[in-house]
Amino acid sequence: MQKKLFSELGLSPESLKAVAKMGFEEASPIQSETIPKLLAGSDIVGLSQTGSGKTAAFAIPAIERVDVTLRAPQVLILCPTRELAMQVAEEVAKLAQFKRGVRELPIYGGQSYDRQLRGLREGAQIIIGTPGRVMDHLERKTLKLDQVGMVILDEADRMLDMGFREDIETILKQAPIQRQTVFFSATMPPPIRHLIKNYTREPVNIRIEAQAMVVPAIDQVYYEVDRRSKLEVLCRLIDLQDIKYGIIFCGTKMMCDELADHLKARGYSSDKLHGDISQQMRERVVAKFKKRGFEFLVATDVAARGLDVDDIEVVFNYDLPQDAEDYVHRIGRTGRAGKTGRAITFVAGREIWKMEQIIRFTKGKVRREKVPSAEEVEEKRTNAFLETLRETLEKGAYKRQDAVIDQLLNAGHSPTDIASALIHLLGGDKPAPQPIIEERAPRREFRDTRGGGDYAPRPPRDYPKYEPVSRSRTASAPPPRDRDFSGPPPAKPFRTKRDEPSPVSHEPGMVRLAFNLGNEQGVAPGDFVGVIAGTTRLPKEVVGRIDIGERQTFVDVSDESATFILKKLNGIKFKGHKLAVAVAR
Ligand code: ADP
Ligand code: MG
Repeated sequence: MQKKLFSELGLSPESLKAVAKMGFEEASPIQSETIPKLLAGSDIVGLSQTGSGKTAAFAIPAIERVDVTLRAPQVLILCPTRELAMQVAEEVAKLAQFKRGVRELPIYGGQSYDRQLRGLREGAQIIIGTPGRVMDHLERKTLKLDQVGMVILDEADRMLDMGFREDIETILKQAPIQRQTVFFSATMPPPIRHLIKNYTREPVNIRIEAQAMVVPAIDQVYYEVDRRSKLEVLCRLIDLQDIKYGIIFCGTKMMCDELADHLKARGYSSDKLHGDISQQMRERVVAKFKKRGFEFLVATDVAARGLDVDDIEVVFNYDLPQDAEDYVHRIGRTGRAGKTGRAITFVAGREIWKMEQIIRFTKGKVRREKVPSAEEVEEKRTNAFLETLRETLEKGAYKRQDAVIDQLLNAGHSPTDIASALIHLLGGDKPAPQPIIEERAPRREFRDTRGGGDYAPRPPRDYPKYEPVSRSRTASAPPPRDRDFSGPPPAKPFRTKRDEPSPVSHEPGMVRLAFNLGNEQGVAPGDFVGVIAGTTRLPKEVVGRIDIGERQTFVDVSDESATFILKKLNGIKFKGHKLAVAVAR
C-alpha cells in the first residue's frame, strides 16, 4: 500500500495545518487509503495492527464532516476503555484545533456526569465514549443520536472481548440508518463479521499488513528463562543495558503486584497498572509515567490497552502474551511514530511452542539471545565503578586528604595498597550478591496458573556506593504497599437507573447499605467492591447490587457480613473522603 502526502487526500486547509503542526510528515498507509474513501462517504472495515495511525485515519474525516452550525452529536466514536477514549479525544482535539466551532467530548465511566452533561448541552458534535457510558446516556436520554451521521468502532474486537456486544448493537440500532459506519479491528472473529454484515453497507475492506505499519523496526529478542529466574534476568538486562524507561507486561494482576513490589525492593522505581486499580489511580499512574516520574510501568494487557506513551525504550514481555496478536499489540508501545524501539520477551519452559507461533506471525523477526551471565553483569558493574572514580578524579570533585595519606605513607604503606584498601571499604572489590540463576529450587508452589510467581525477593542491594552514578535508584527498602481500595470491575458495565433506587434490598438475605459517596465523587461500582473486599478481607461475593446516586450509593451486602462491614468501613478514608456507611432507610 502506498503512502501519500496529506495534501493529496483532499483535506481542508485547517486539517492540513493541524497535521503539519502535529509533526506528521506524510500519511501512513492506512490513512492514505482510508481518508479519501471516508470523505467520499463509504463505510470502511479496516484490519490493521497497533501503531498504524488509525486514530487520525478516522478522526480527520470525522472532523471534516462536522456541520458547525449544528450543535448536536454528529459523530460517535466507540472505544473499549476509558484510557483509549481519552486518548482518541485528545487526538481529535489536536486535529480539530484550527476548525472553529468543532467540539469533541469524551464520555466514559468513572467521570462525573455533570461534566459530560455540560459538554452535551454545549453542543459537542464528536462524542468519544465507551459503550457502557454511552448506553447510560442513551437510557437517560441525555444523548441523542438522531443527528449522528457517522459511527466509528475503534478496536472492535476488544470491545466484544470486554462484553460490549449487546450495547454496541443497541447503539448501532439507535443511530440513523442513513449513516456511515466504520469498523477498526486487529482481528476479524465471527462476531465481528456478524456485526459488519448487519450494520454496514457495502463496506470497503482495507487491510494493512504488519510490515506496512508506521512503527518501523522494533528490535525483538527473546530469552529462554526459567520461571523463577525471570526477576533476576530482568534486573540483569536492565542494568547491563542501562534501560531507564520501559513497560513490563505480566500475565496476571497478581503477577503485576508482585513484580512491582520486587522491583521497588531492588531499587528500581516502578508502578503498576491493572484492572483492579481504580480509574483515578490509573490516570494518576499514567500521567506520572508520561512525565517519567518512574522508570518501569508493570501492566496487564487490558490496563495498557491503547496506552500512548512516547519514547518507551523497551517493552518487556515478562510473561508471554496470550497470542501472537497480543504480542504485536504489546510491542507496538515501543518505537512509536517513526522511532526505533525494542522488545524483550521471556519464554519459560514449554511456552516455547507459543513463542514459535509468535516468531512465525512476526515473520521471524524475533531473535533468541543468551541470558547474560553474572560475570558480564559484574564486569559492567566494575566498569561503572571505575568510570565514577575516574570522573571524580578528573573533576577534582573531592577534598584533599594530604595529612591522612602522608601518615599512611610514613607508616610504610604503598599508594597502591592504600587505594586498594579504600576500594575495599567502599565495597568495590566485593562481588555483588548474584543468585545463581540455573540452580535455584522453587520455594513455594505457583500461586497462579499463568504468571508463575514463585521467585523469592533478593535482599536489597547492600552496595549502594558502588552504583553507577548515572542511575538514580529509589530507596532500597521495600516501601509499604499502597493500599489501593479499588476492586475488580463488574462483569457487566454498570447502569445507573433513571428511577430512584429503593433504600430496601429486594433480594433475600441481603441488606442495603448507604455510602456517603456518589457520582459527584467520581466513584465506580468496582470501587465499592474493592473497598469492602480489601478492608474486610471478605470475598467479593458478599457484595450484591450497587446503585450509584449523585451523592450517595446503595450497596447490597449479605446479611451476615453487614455488621462487620459497617464496623470496618466507617470512618476510614477512601478516595480522599471519610466514609460514612449506614443501613439504608
Ligand atoms: P493505532 O490506533 O493504529 O494503534 P495511533 O492512531 O494511536 O495508532 O497512532 C500511533 C502513533 O503514531 C500516535 O502517536 C500518532 O500520533 C502517530 N501518528 C499517526 N499518524 C502519523 C503520521 N502520519 N505520521 C507520524 N506519526 C503519526
Ligand atoms: Mg488506536
